[in-house]
Amino acid sequence: MKDFPGTTGLVLNEPLLWEKGRAGRQGFSIPRTDVEPAQPDEDLVWEGPSLPDLSEIDVVRHYTRLSTWNFGIDTGTYPLGSCTMKYNPKINEKLAGLPGFAKAHPLLPNRLSQGILEIMFELQRFLAEITGMDAVCLQPAAGAQGELSGMLLIHAFHKSQGRRPSKIIVPDTAHGTNPASAALCGYSPVAVKSNEKGILSAESVDKVMDDETAGIMLTNPNTLGFFEENIKEIADIVHARGGLVYGDGANMNAIMGIVDAARIGVDILHLNLHKTFSTPHGGGGPGAGPICVRKDLEPFLPVPRIVRKKGEYVLSEDFPQSIGKVHAFMGNVGVMIKAYCYILSMGAENLKKCSQLAVLNANYLKERLKDKFNLPYDRTCMHECVFTDKNQAAEKIRTLDIAKRLMDYGFHPPTIYFPLVVNGAIMIEPTETESKQDLDLLIDALRAIAHECRENPDLLRDAPTRCKMKRLDEVSAARKPHLIE
Ligand SMILES: *Cc1c(COP(=O)(O)O)cnc(C)c1O
Repeated sequence: MKDFPGTTGLVLNEPLLWEKGRAGRQGFSIPRTDVEPAQPDEDLVWEGPSLPDLSEIDVVRHYTRLSTWNFGIDTGTYPLGSCTMKYNPKINEKLAGLPGFAKAHPLLPNRLSQGILEIMFELQRFLAEITGMDAVCLQPAAGAQGELSGMLLIHAFHKSQGRRPSKIIVPDTAHGTNPASAALCGYSPVAVKSNEKGILSAESVDKVMDDETAGIMLTNPNTLGFFEENIKEIADIVHARGGLVYGDGANMNAIMGIVDAARIGVDILHLNLHKTFSTPHGGGGPGAGPICVRKDLEPFLPVPRIVRKKGEYVLSEDFPQSIGKVHAFMGNVGVMIKAYCYILSMGAENLKKCSQLAVLNANYLKERLKDKFNLPYDRTCMHECVFTDKNQAAEKIRTLDIAKRLMDYGFHPPTIYFPLVVNGAIMIEPTETESKQDLDLLIDALRAIAHECRENPDLLRDAPTRCKMKRLDEVSAARKPHLIE
């Protein structure tokens, strides 16, 4: 048998602490008092919360067992498309946790925050260099918040020219947050279909671009994993009618050190530090979605901005055209420190190599699986590739069954049913940090599943069978949640 990471033994059950507690158990003992207890004042007596009585080992086992129910990048391959679930070096976590950083109060005066301000200033410079843009704001806490900030910037830019266009072009291969961010800013998203190559054609943009359109939001590489090759021509069309080009750069992991966003016509671009630049994500937690802009949009960036005055870094609000604040203080600074350390430790050459390997890994996986799974766009991809469940249709096996079965083999399922332009999509992003051995294991598991579809489809319909939880009723879970009172 193959050495898949998935197994069944020693996945331990664990009840709630309330079910586990026994009256009188203690996690510690304190010396017997040698003074008479004082008579408590009735008015001051508080029963305290109703917590169970537990011993130290009860508590240690409880939380240790719960931690083994989690799956993360530190446990195994996590090929979730459009998420860049790559390994994040622990050293960056350690550095961001240094007391000088972690305990710095955001209200410290500038003169006592020079170190952190310098790091943020330098990080802005690094990100400007990596993207080819002129100015950077680190404040937004997520990709989607970067998008919203970008939309506000577009609005402020047009307003400064006495214009109030009301629409934004969003292709069908954009990330789902794009039309949502445009709508939240009050724009009407105008959908444009991608062509047979899975990218946007200049003609289709030309058809819808008009004076009422504020600009376009382009995810590049897009959610099919393809580079928008016509972006320069598209940008020219949009610019010619007074619009701006917003680039969703959350997929920067595919193009670091390779693509200069400014030169391909992008005016505003956000990055996801919590995807590309060494912050773990996937279960919530702090992130950062910096926006990088061209020179003429710099005056609109959120405040406060870090400026250098007489050799000192100071926070300045003196930008009258700014869209204002988008986050408390400076955003999630710990995430920025991790990104700064990651970029310094990698160096320019290795950032480029990281993107090259991310693309190589995705293409390797695509080539080794395309005889088993339907590949709707059979061409060289960037950091991710998209399959469908079409080949398994005869057995009535669907994408969901394939994803669930992958858990039995010890892998996190890929992104499924997204992008929406592909029916039954299975979107795989292996990232550069998976070795060939680990990629081969994932490929072998998927090939084995394709074989099972024909030989034993019931196995898939019941999957996962080896996991702690079996197939859940996801619709009921969402519609009728069982909440503990
Ligand atoms: C992840 C992602 C986003 C959203 O980022 P969040 O930090 O989750 O808000 C936007 N666009 C693309 C292409 C993404 O992959």
